[in-house]
Amino acid sequence: MNPEILRRYYMQVLEAPKKKRRAPKKSKDPFHPPLFEARPGHVRLVPCNACGGMSFKTLFEKESSLKEVFQVVRCKCGLVQVNPQPDLQAVLPYYADSYFKKRTDRGYDNYFSDEIKAEIRRVFTMNLEDIGFFAYEKKVFEKQRPGRALDAGCAAGYFVEYMAERGWNAEGIELSAVAAKPGKARGLRITVGDFLTHSDLIPQSYDFISFWASIEHMHEPARVLLRASELLQPGGRMVLSTCRYGLLARLAGRDWRFMNVPEHLYFFSVKRLTRLASELGFKVVGKVTYGSGLTTRKDASPFYRFAKRWLDPLVKVLGQGDMMVFHLEKMS
Ligand SMILES: [Zn+2]
Repeated sequence: MNPEILRRYYMQVLEAPKKKRRAPKKSKDPFHPPLFEARPGHVRLVPCNACGGMSFKTLFEKESSLKEVFQVVRCKCGLVQVNPQPDLQAVLPYYADSYFKKRTDRGYDNYFSDEIKAEIRRVFTMNLEDIGFFAYEKKVFEKQRPGRALDAGCAAGYFVEYMAERGWNAEGIELSAVAAKPGKARGLRITVGDFLTHSDLIPQSYDFISFWASIEHMHEPARVLLRASELLQPGGRMVLSTCRYGLLARLAGRDWRFMNVPEHLYFFSVKRLTRLASELGFKVVGKVTYGSGLTTRKDASPFYRFAKRWLDPLVKVLGQGDMMVFHLEKMS
């Protein structure tokens, strides 16, 4: 599918005045999950964001940290997702102040601490190295300096700061004012607002856009990537990291470390993300999977540390990590 067709699809289907959608009848077709009763403005069955389809197979149910139960389903196109899906209003309670300060399975043990900041910067550098970003950066700086970089879903602005230190004209955009506050206080250029609609973001004005573990939180990932394509100059690059639905995720099922619903709404596989990127007019210039499922922990036992030291490089070599990073180029 080419970007023009997708653009038309969004205009016609997703941006048309909301009509009442008839829920599909229950049938023995495994691709029709049991339905919640539609509660407008809360939780409702939505078309798959990547393909527009309405045929889903239920994988399992999962209880959230607020004791609500959500269904995790797989669309016929392969995209695993939370559906019926809570709307923006309904997920807000999950992003209260405490989300960044203490958390459950996946969480931030105080996202704003120096230790977490150092760990996040270590991962940026490792990821960027693995996908060939630094070679690209060198080329940009040979032509022009500074290049313009935008980090979407930048939270406290750690990557904005990282890029600014490397010589980029760097800025970020973040929906949550609470998350953005410390970065703004440090003088970083962070806009609080919606990446999809904010008028300060000028089309074709960026060399580079990044999404660090943010796309899985977004209600309309395909539309977000399309918007990124509009904001990039022809030949512009994008780095996209997200959790990877693959072998480890399937083995762990509802206990997978990234299966925290409804904060995470979409779970892409390498194949599905590659397909979506090409449908939206991007070429994959680098990609890597990493992460053995063992999260870095302060209180880890010697055995845990030992296992992590061996398993992390192993899954990377095998392409079986449960995180992935893509380096994409906008085709002109
Ligand atoms: Zn789909």
